[in-house]
Amino acid sequence: MGKSALITGITGQDGAYLAKFLLEKDYQVYGTFRRLSTPNFWRLQYLDIFDRIHLIPADLLDASSIISALKISQPDEVYHLAAQSFVGTSFEQPVGAGEITGLGVTRVMEAIREINPGIKFYQASTSELYGQGNTESLSEQTPFRPSSPYASAKLYGYWITRIYREGYGIFACNGILFNHESPLRGMEFVTRKISNAAAKIALGLEKKLALGNIESKRDWGYAPEYVESMWLILQQEKPDDYVIATNESHTVKELVEKAFAVAGLDWEKYVTVEERFLRPLDVNFLQGDYAKAKRELGWEPKVKFNELVEIMVKEDLSRWQRWSKGERFPWDAPNYPNENKILSRMLKLDR
Ligand code: NDP
Ligand code: GDP
Repeated sequence: MGKSALITGITGQDGAYLAKFLLEKDYQVYGTFRRLSTPNFWRLQYLDIFDRIHLIPADLLDASSIISALKISQPDEVYHLAAQSFVGTSFEQPVGAGEITGLGVTRVMEAIREINPGIKFYQASTSELYGQGNTESLSEQTPFRPSSPYASAKLYGYWITRIYREGYGIFACNGILFNHESPLRGMEFVTRKISNAAAKIALGLEKKLALGNIESKRDWGYAPEYVESMWLILQQEKPDDYVIATNESHTVKELVEKAFAVAGLDWEKYVTVEERFLRPLDVNFLQGDYAKAKRELGWEPKVKFNELVEIMVKEDLSRWQRWSKGERFPWDAPNYPNENKILSRMLKLDR
């Protein structure tokens, strides 16, 4: 019998890929999900693993549901991926960011401390911790300077993880993962927003794409490779924190240029920059240094920028081609309203 793992946030991009990875390693995989008015198990269905997962209802705002999830699953390892994960939304719902993305970590750690402190714990930390003002590669030694409610909630989660490690001897680790993307990425993130728009425009289903800060640089990797690093981090002899990245960074403008080229389009004919997609504070540069992960975990990225963009645009093209022929779901694209319909407090309303 293999080990048992509990993944919080199994319905998200990383949760789905990690579940698949752990099933292939012969784990019993348990995952928490929230009751929503419309169920969203499409990623698990897309990867064809839905029937092999044990689902447990739990919300990070409800400590008792997390305790139940641990009692039911009795895991060897907890991968804490659940969070309000979108920086833009954290400016619109900053208190929620703190409650869910910050305090949620303490609720899980407390449950582990009380139920079984021998459980290993992975915290989904992020390159957003580094914040603004950097121009050089970022490593485990670089100081953090968060620049969004999301990042400050994640900073709290990062430290709680270390405090439970150092204070209670729990095997608790931070993976400081730089942006990682895939065809299962949420539609609001810039990579998927662009790959989806390029595909739709190429097929005549959409006319234009509005973006925000296209000079911003990110270190984008491929999510299925990044979930392996989460598992490797929990297999080490000692708990520790690791940067996971590709060591390359590219601007959003380069991304849009490449994505539209894959779809056979000249991006400059279709893309506009609109103020409503600019953030009150933005992080203009993120580029990691994964030397420690390579040295200690033996982890290295294989898919780099160009290949990643190709994978995403080709998948969205294929989905929209199938959609045009009548196929519906389980992928998410048609569910999402056009962003023009969404009123944000970041939109300056002249009233
Ligand atoms: P997603 O947004 O795709 O998934 C987030 C998951 O959290 C979903 O399953 C969501 O459930 C769940 N969730 C949100 N709020 C709650 C709540 N109140 N209670 C219980 N569950 C909740 O994120 P990713 O998979 O991309 O990221 C996984 C983790 O890694 C996140 O913590 C993210 O912040 C972090 N991270 C991600 C990076 C990336 O580039 N992808 C980079 C660095 C860190 P539902 O489906 O119901 O909304
Ligand atoms: P983040 O790094 O977690 O914030 O990931 P995102 O994919 O949301 O954003 C990456 C960068 O792209 C940020 O600097 C954004 O400001 C920038 N960006 C530019 N236009 C857009 C847009 O239309 N949507 C999003 N989500 N980001 C955009």
